[in-house]
Amino acid sequence: MPRIFSGIQPSGELHIGNYLGAVKNWVALQEQYESFYCVVDYHAIIGSYTPDDLRRRTRDMATSLLASGIDPAKCTLFVQSRVPEHTELAWIFNTITPLGELERQVAFKEKASRQEQVMAGLLNYPVLQAADILLYLADTVPVGEDQVQHLELSRVVARNWNARFAPEGAPYFPEPQPKLTPTRRIVGLDGNAKMSKSLGNTIGLLESKDEMWAKLRPAVTDPSRMRKTDAGNPEQCPVVFGLHKAFSPASTVAEVEVNCRGAQWGCVDCKKVLLEHMDAELTPIRTRAQELTAQPSLVDAALDAGAEKARAVAQRTMEQVKERMGLA
Ligand code: SF4
Repeated sequence: MPRIFSGIQPSGELHIGNYLGAVKNWVALQEQYESFYCVVDYHAIIGSYTPDDLRRRTRDMATSLLASGIDPAKCTLFVQSRVPEHTELAWIFNTITPLGELERQVAFKEKASRQEQVMAGLLNYPVLQAADILLYLADTVPVGEDQVQHLELSRVVARNWNARFAPEGAPYFPEPQPKLTPTRRIVGLDGNAKMSKSLGNTIGLLESKDEMWAKLRPAVTDPSRMRKTDAGNPEQCPVVFGLHKAFSPASTVAEVEVNCRGAQWGCVDCKKVLLEHMDAELTPIRTRAQELTAQPSLVDAALDAGAEKARAVAQRTMEQVKERMGLA
């Protein structure tokens, strides 16, 4: 089986943008690939945080992933800091990565421009990301469009290391290829291009039906629909129509098209239909999350087993790397 690696920040409970944009895809991919899914807590300590909060967010993320259908029997789910080889390989990669490559990264330039004091970790973040992927010799990485540049750096790192330490024509590290996630970016409820917890425009994956409705009801729609009798255009309604396309069956999406353009449905009617489809998909996830929260030992056991499986692979890679570099 080809191998994939994907990581997610321990931001606590997932929101539906994370779920649709990444995790739902992971659940499908675990059937087709040897999959390594990692809660990347080392990446999360670059910004400000409190230790207790990080611990809680890491556990909540693992709970959300398991509840969403990530199955430890089909993949390797683990927390990054439980596998110390990630930072060991990142250091090695730091020694073969030109500074200019890192300074050119768009994400670094954007974040650094907003900070008074820029930490070295922010610059070296993509090197750790390369180590995350290459430690498992993953040849494929499911990514959103905005992460493709980071993956390019992982390919440069693999190429540089192979050129120096692998015999010509027999590269050790694969150059990982992106696999673009099928769901495009989920628009925030306020119409902002991105659904993001920091923008406060999300619906949490584990929110109740009532909580979802409280957020969905005021969500922005096609501005030309001032009254129920105004004809609308679903393409001008990326929030609600986008969620219909993600949660509702094709027949309902077709109905939305007709009833919006013909002004047969008001936006509240349309959102109520959406709510039912969202709730049908998310209720089993919510129920499973409640069960896991009531039995935290199940989450611990899954993460312990995942770290052990990941470490076995990581240690084999590091043996090869050190041998070839004269470190063993
Ligand atoms: Fe959006 Fe539905 Fe209203 Fe059309 S009817 S503008 S798709 S909420």
